[in-house]
Amino acid sequence: MKVGVARESAAGERRVALVPEALGKLTAAGLAILVETGAGDGAAIPDQAYVDAGAKVVSTDELYADSDVILRVQKPAGAEVSKLRGGQAVVGLLQPLLDPALMQTLAAAGVTAVSLDAIPRTLSRAQTMDALSSQANVAGYKAVLIAATTYGRYFPLLTTAAGTAKPANVLILGIGVAGLQAIGTARRLGAVVSAYDVRPETAEQAESLGAKFVRLRTSIDATGAGGYARELSAEERTSQQAELNEVIASQDVVITTAQVPGRKPPVLVTGDAVRAMRPGSVIVDMAASALGGNCELSQAGRTIATDNGVTIVSPENLPASMPTGASQFYARNIQVLLLNMVKDGNLNLDFEEEVTRATVITHGGAVVSEALNKVLQPAGGNA
Ligand code: NAD
Repeated sequence: MKVGVARESAAGERRVALVPEALGKLTAAGLAILVETGAGDGAAIPDQAYVDAGAKVVSTDELYADSDVILRVQKPAGAEVSKLRGGQAVVGLLQPLLDPALMQTLAAAGVTAVSLDAIPRTLSRAQTMDALSSQANVAGYKAVLIAATTYGRYFPLLTTAAGTAKPANVLILGIGVAGLQAIGTARRLGAVVSAYDVRPETAEQAESLGAKFVRLRTSIDATGAGGYARELSAEERTSQQAELNEVIASQDVVITTAQVPGRKPPVLVTGDAVRAMRPGSVIVDMAASALGGNCELSQAGRTIATDNGVTIVSPENLPASMPTGASQFYARNIQVLLLNMVKDGNLNLDFEEEVTRATVITHGGAVVSEALNKVLQPAGGNA
């Protein structure tokens, strides 16, 4: 079976689905690897490095014509979709629930779509395949570095002949995978770190990394399904907001990471809270997207300065800004996922197996994902 590695086409995407170090286990399993010329350019991986690792570098047309499986990071764009053919498989972070129409197009074309963002995240065996976690980890780290370089003072306590610098107070909102990495990174830089989440179990995790868990007087437990948070009720939001505003006002840096699956990210830093912050403070809103963000004033993809001197950074696609490190982790995730679906050198989909059942979105001309079918055919509907 031939496995192709596509060159990413999305604007600003610099990651690549496989790095040369990940090839060995795939070739040992009897797979031949084709790499689209220039696929590793954005991550500083030359074509020759893939050749040295046993791959064949091919043109775009050859890649789509010859590959049985195409590995990528982001979902294929229009021109790439039309190059895919029946019987071929495409594996990546395809966001099937956000773009069901693409999945229907792939199903109609007889393409097998496998999405890494559909991995059952609480299954411990699937941890090595969990690309959402590996990329959130990169993002949490990078968000802190951006905050540190944007902030006009030191993160650590520093005593010098020219005086003493106070450590920065850094608040992390949302203690998931990105939040935990942000806590660790900010601590390593010497900041005084506090953190808050609506899932009480995160308190111990934050404290074990040296952060102070912010305990609000109104206790909220918004633990939802699968380890995720549920959306707060209106009353919960109001009481949370009033108390959080007081905490936010005393911070130098706020990094927000809060997400609720399938919903708009919750607003945790209101315009009023930003206006109460000191000049020179920095907010990095990791949740910002076209849907909105955790900060009411953030503008996705932009850095803005408010009238009271607060800088709000809303980076898009942070993992792509650390492309080589992010690709290395992603490659491991996709390598393990692929090997889980390969038998005797060929794709062998066993729908009795949990990871295959969850991640294969289209197959044999139909949408087979239970989660996507629920969206496409709501109970009682005939869509
Ligand atoms: P996420 O990106 O969905 O959300 C980030 C954090 O925001 C979560 O901790 C969430 O509780 C928090 N949040 C949501 N609404 C909030 C609000 N109003 N105020 C404050 N915080 C709010 O989460 P994630 O990083 O993808 O992780 C989700 C879960 O999956 C976690 O429980 C994580 O431990 C779990 N997970 C488990 C495994 C495993 O067991 N193998 C692997 C990866 C992730």
